[in-house]
Amino acid sequence: MNKSILRYFIVILFVTLCLSSTISGTLISNNLLKSTEENLLYSLKLINYSLERDIPFDQQLDNINPLAYSDNTRISIIGYDGVVVADTYKEEVMENHLSREEVKEAIEQGIGYATRQSATAKQSLLYVAYDAGDYIIRISIPYRGILDHLPSLIPALSFSIVTSLIISFVLSIRLANKITYPITKINENLTHMGADFRIDLPYFDYDEFNEVSSTLRDMSHRLRKSLKEVQLERMKIDEILSQMNEGFVLLDERHRLLSINDKAISILGAMNIHDIVTDYVYYPELLNALTRDEEKQEVEIKVEGLIYVCYINKIELGTTLLFVDMTLNKKIEKMRREFFSNVSHELKTPLTSIKGYSELLAQGLVSDENQKITMLNKIQNEVNNMSRLINDILLLSKLENMELKTERISVHLGDLSQDILDSFIVEINKRELHVSVEHDDIEYICDPQQMYTVMSNLISNAIKYNVDQGYLNIKIFKKNNHVYIQVSDSGIGISHIDQTRIFERFYRVDKGRSRQLGGTGLGLAIVKHTVSQYKGTIDVTSVLHKGTTITVKLPL
Ligand code: ADP
Repeated sequence: MNKSILRYFIVILFVTLCLSSTISGTLISNNLLKSTEENLLYSLKLINYSLERDIPFDQQLDNINPLAYSDNTRISIIGYDGVVVADTYKEEVMENHLSREEVKEAIEQGIGYATRQSATAKQSLLYVAYDAGDYIIRISIPYRGILDHLPSLIPALSFSIVTSLIISFVLSIRLANKITYPITKINENLTHMGADFRIDLPYFDYDEFNEVSSTLRDMSHRLRKSLKEVQLERMKIDEILSQMNEGFVLLDERHRLLSINDKAISILGAMNIHDIVTDYVYYPELLNALTRDEEKQEVEIKVEGLIYVCYINKIELGTTLLFVDMTLNKKIEKMRREFFSNVSHELKTPLTSIKGYSELLAQGLVSDENQKITMLNKIQNEVNNMSRLINDILLLSKLENMELKTERISVHLGDLSQDILDSFIVEINKRELHVSVEHDDIEYICDPQQMYTVMSNLISNAIKYNVDQGYLNIKIFKKNNHVYIQVSDSGIGISHIDQTRIFERFYRVDKGRSRQLGGTGLGLAIVKHTVSQYKGTIDVTSVLHKGTTITVKLPL
């Protein structure tokens, strides 16, 4: 910019110089002509005054001519008829001068002027003619106007041109610098403006630039404010993303990573922003889905034993991936499926025998009364089993859905255990079991029906899976602010592997035996659920063929 301003100034200077020299040259040459004409006129008047009319003019002109300031000065005396009477250039052929411009003018107006190229002298001459009353006296000198003075003017002219050129050059540079300084400064600031958009502009000499700086300062302030807001929003989004249980990934149209949260990193592995995600993903289902051009997709992937559903959404910017852990849902779904299949199976067995016996009886195929009674007893037995099963299923479902209406009253656990033992007295006597009960005097605040269910299930199992003449011990005591209900037997015991599963619904070590003894496979599941409602725990220790101890620990 500096250079173009400089060039511009030099052109202006040159044009100005040319114009001013032309104008002043014209003025000077006009003035010069005028003053030369006046001088010549004055000389003519002096000559006229000194001329004696009775002495020949030629002689007198010879005397006057050496006084002239130039050798080439010519003086002529011309009659009104145009005839040259006398002339300092005698040798030249004198034709009639009436046609000469200056002579004509002098005859008409008294004074005549002319400038022309002399054919004889072969140079430009200035003529002045004066009407002396009896003759026309004319003087001529070589005249080239300002050109005659040029040799003496050249050094001064050159000096002034060079000086003014130098001065204007220096001034132009300074002016250009002064004009471009604010622009350079503003440019520097904008170029080196950091990521924080901060600018530092000085005060300029020109108000226009100060206005620009003030606008820029204002812009920088607003940009910084917006940047802060954007950063804050970004932090909020990052915080939300990092707190999410779901994995979140944002990709651009070319599958380059724009954003990823910690959960998604734990699923897909670490990557850098702008990495092409398809280069890093190991899951073929996910890779295929990413290459497909569908707006919405769902892909299931397994990561270290967990099942995730990835929801892939194509958006304007690119693609979003949302990984939702579905392990629990899948597990629940599986459990539900198993539960229904178990329930159907458990109901099918008694129904099949009921159907079989009832068909035989209905068709009158059994005639023996004793056989009929046996069959009817079997039907009744199966109905009882089914009724127990349905009751247990309903109870378990209510427990799971927290639908059970419970009351909280003080229950004497020792008395409750005694009542339950009494209810099993027939089986106990049949198996000739040795029963012992040790209990502290504990009143526990609970739902009596629920506590009955827990203890009767444990006692019932200790009877069912005992050996004849075995032992059944019940201990109820307080320890460390907890109540312990311990039911031990000397029965068949439970293997280590089975110990971990007996609390599952419908799990039975020996299905046939359990069914035969009226078990539903839901007793311990109900116990576990109930105990956990009281924030208690249940623990099993057992040795195969030796016996089992099940301990329920409830907080006081
Ligand atoms: P069930 O109605 O079959 O008794 P439970 O849920 O009460 O169902 O018990 C699950 C399984 O655990 C039983 O089928 C049995 O195999 C085993 N079991 C429970 N208690 C005992 C025990 N005291 N001794 C041996 N096995 C037991």
